[in-house]
Amino acid sequence: MELKKNNFLPFAVPDIGSEEINEVVDSLQSGWVTTGPKTKKFEKNFSDFIGGVEAISVNSATAGLHLALEAVGVGAGDEVITTAYTFTATAEVIRYLGADPVFVDIDPETLNIDASKIEKKISPRTKAIIPVHFAGLACDMDTILEIAGKYNLRVIEDAAHALPSKYNNKLIGLLNSDVTVYSFYATKTITTGEGGMIVTRNAEIAERCRIMRLHGISRDAFDRYQSKKPSWHYEVVAPGYKYNMTDIAASIGIHQLNKANKFQSRRQEIAAYYDQNLSNLPVILPPHAPTNDLHSWHLYVIRLTGESGVARDDFIQSMSDKGIGCSVHFIPLHLHPYWRDTYHLKAEDYPKSLLTYESAVSLPLYTKMTDEDASRVVFAVKEVLSV
Ligand SMILES: *Cc1c(COP(=O)(O)O)cnc(C)c1O
Repeated sequence: MELKKNNFLPFAVPDIGSEEINEVVDSLQSGWVTTGPKTKKFEKNFSDFIGGVEAISVNSATAGLHLALEAVGVGAGDEVITTAYTFTATAEVIRYLGADPVFVDIDPETLNIDASKIEKKISPRTKAIIPVHFAGLACDMDTILEIAGKYNLRVIEDAAHALPSKYNNKLIGLLNSDVTVYSFYATKTITTGEGGMIVTRNAEIAERCRIMRLHGISRDAFDRYQSKKPSWHYEVVAPGYKYNMTDIAASIGIHQLNKANKFQSRRQEIAAYYDQNLSNLPVILPPHAPTNDLHSWHLYVIRLTGESGVARDDFIQSMSDKGIGCSVHFIPLHLHPYWRDTYHLKAEDYPKSLLTYESAVSLPLYTKMTDEDASRVVFAVKEVLSV
């Protein structure tokens, strides 16, 4: 099935090959469709990919972030610091636990949380920080981890965009944070349709996430202390959630993970092509990763400058008229009714997020794009900007 209709280039299309399809068919034919051997294998492979971490699969990154916050002890009345410039999932999980997000504005260069503004937002209630590696470019983790250490805060990385990304030559997932959470949503760098992975080196956090992702059932307690009980026996130790990954999803994930580095190279290639061909236009190109970092290039976000003479919304409409799907990442959280009204936030409270949002356009960037597709995007951008 081909998603491109009438030669329209969609904003994002997953790259699913025959390996994924055959593996899914194998699971369907095996009679084991929920969490089982494929999920176990995917977790093992993911752990090996990052290197020496515990990997706990879940049915979304949102679920993973929720479990991570729960596992580090975030609860009612606590505060969690995060960026205003993210998807609502990053902050909603804080509310699930009765805690409050405290938003910090972005660094207008990197579009990541402005680490120099975090300390001012710390209160006696602050329990954790959730940095988001926007578009796949790593946050200023040295500063964030230093602040966390100084104030005894937990750090949970929202790595929904960051597989694979590196900071200081280290893969995201190997830094000294408490937990890192990846997303395998349809548009992300690798996909399982819906899915996510929790990564940690803390055995207690891993154990808690494993128990809470499946109804608070403790199999290990059963194995350890109740080994004379029959195999149908289990113990519920907490009111957990239903966040487990299925073997059908894991079947896709196993092969997507095998291709993760190849996918990153192709994304980087297209990003480099955009960089080359969109320079000298009235747009701000996306920031590059420092020498020792790796950019996953999940997103390619340009910002229209005042000289472009075209409003962002009109730009996206004109691109669409020319057969190119674009998107916006993100509508900052403080502009959404729920966050604005609950925390009495004003648009100008986060000026860099606001300014970025008003000019930001995400261009199509995915591995199924051909060189010709990329050149069509460049051509359309130039036409819309009348240059
Ligand atoms: C996609 C995304 C999420 C949520 O991922 P799901 O797997 O869809 O739950 C969280 N944070 C950010 C920054 C995202 O882009």
